[in-house]
Amino acid sequence: MNRSLIDSYKNFLDKGKTERECVSFSIEEARSKGFVELCEKESLKPGDRVYYVNRDKSIALFIIGKAKLEDGMNILGAHIDSPRLDLKMKPLFEKEGVVYLNTHYYGGIKKYQWVTMPLALHGVVFRKDGTAALVEIGEDEDDTALCIADILPHIAQEQMKQSAAEFIKGEELDLVVGLTPNDESKEKDKGKKAIMALLKERYDIDEDDFSSAELEVVPAGRARDMGLDRSMVLAYGQDDRVCAYTSLKAILDYEGTPERTACCMLVDKEEIGSVGATGMDSLILENTVAEVLAKCGITDSLTLRRCLRNSYMLSSDVNSAYDPQHADLYDKDNASILSGGVVFNKYTGARGKSGASDANPEFIAKLRNVMDKNKVKFQMAEMAKVDIGGGGTIAKYCSWYGMDVIDCGVAVLSMHAPFEITSVEDINSAYDCYRAFLTL
Ligand code: MN
Ligand code: MN
Repeated sequence: MNRSLIDSYKNFLDKGKTERECVSFSIEEARSKGFVELCEKESLKPGDRVYYVNRDKSIALFIIGKAKLEDGMNILGAHIDSPRLDLKMKPLFEKEGVVYLNTHYYGGIKKYQWVTMPLALHGVVFRKDGTAALVEIGEDEDDTALCIADILPHIAQEQMKQSAAEFIKGEELDLVVGLTPNDESKEKDKGKKAIMALLKERYDIDEDDFSSAELEVVPAGRARDMGLDRSMVLAYGQDDRVCAYTSLKAILDYEGTPERTACCMLVDKEEIGSVGATGMDSLILENTVAEVLAKCGITDSLTLRRCLRNSYMLSSDVNSAYDPQHADLYDKDNASILSGGVVFNKYTGARGKSGASDANPEFIAKLRNVMDKNKVKFQMAEMAKVDIGGGGTIAKYCSWYGMDVIDCGVAVLSMHAPFEITSVEDINSAYDCYRAFLTL
């Protein structure tokens, strides 16, 4: 097993706690592996390695293949956004001695999991003149910590009677960032003003600048080995950065010129339905591929359509790992087991497969063949029992072009929790799988 892959993966998680941080990291790694930005190239030829950045929150990397582009590409697609708490546009307020930052959660979370733990603020604030402040508070152990408070059990009888969905409400997820100075002054909002002065000093921003900010509250602390046997990784944001990193690394480590053009797309907004200009439910893929084709001297839309239609894609996204403590939620024969290898999931979606892309069996047969040839350990699984529920991925937005696509990623325990668990064997298996896929 490749332990250095796990160390470099943990480093990626530590450096990439937001989409923008993941994109910056990817650019740096790509450049060190000979990739250049698409706009730096006059034209493209087989073997060329380029990347294309979309609004600093998604990135696509390509290695131009020997075959004609209209014959299709091999695409690895993962998402680099993760569940979290975003700051509201007017977040700073003071209430009876305590100063808070108000949040609005992003993605599917169990709200009660986000209280009483060290949290960090990561992101960017744009001032009116267009300059930006890069914000990171509470991440470094030597820096100050941030936290959301909860009620003492002794006086929480009423709270404890409520359902888990209710007992911490979205509106109560307010980050404690300071206390009102206990001095003689009767000045209104003096606590809030004092905190704003500290932010001004640290980042040269004013309160109004919060309205043009993208600030994300995430669990503080580094990714760690887990278990006495170090068989797992415990970290924030492994959905879906575990697949994003192994996909990125698979294309960066590809040597030489592939037969079919290799592509790795790392996109934003999957956790809220792939919406927006940086999510997959936009023309992001089509527009990016059109830019690549243009550099190859191809500008007609029919070739673009054929290129997308003839592509193969792995929607590199995580699957819910079988949990022996909650066995009744799973059909064990069709569940993904930790350390069972990378997971192919034909049916994502929920209940009657709503929201699924339902991969074609002809395509799955091809994948089984290339996985076996490359000795990749894999498992076929669904998320949970049929009536329990499920979820969608970016797969359906890619299948829209008629390409062959299947969900394929790492099994995760405690998915969407502040700290998620993966198996180091599965991470290695995903990397092997994505490398093999690029040879298809
Ligand atoms: Mn995901
Ligand atoms: Mn998710």
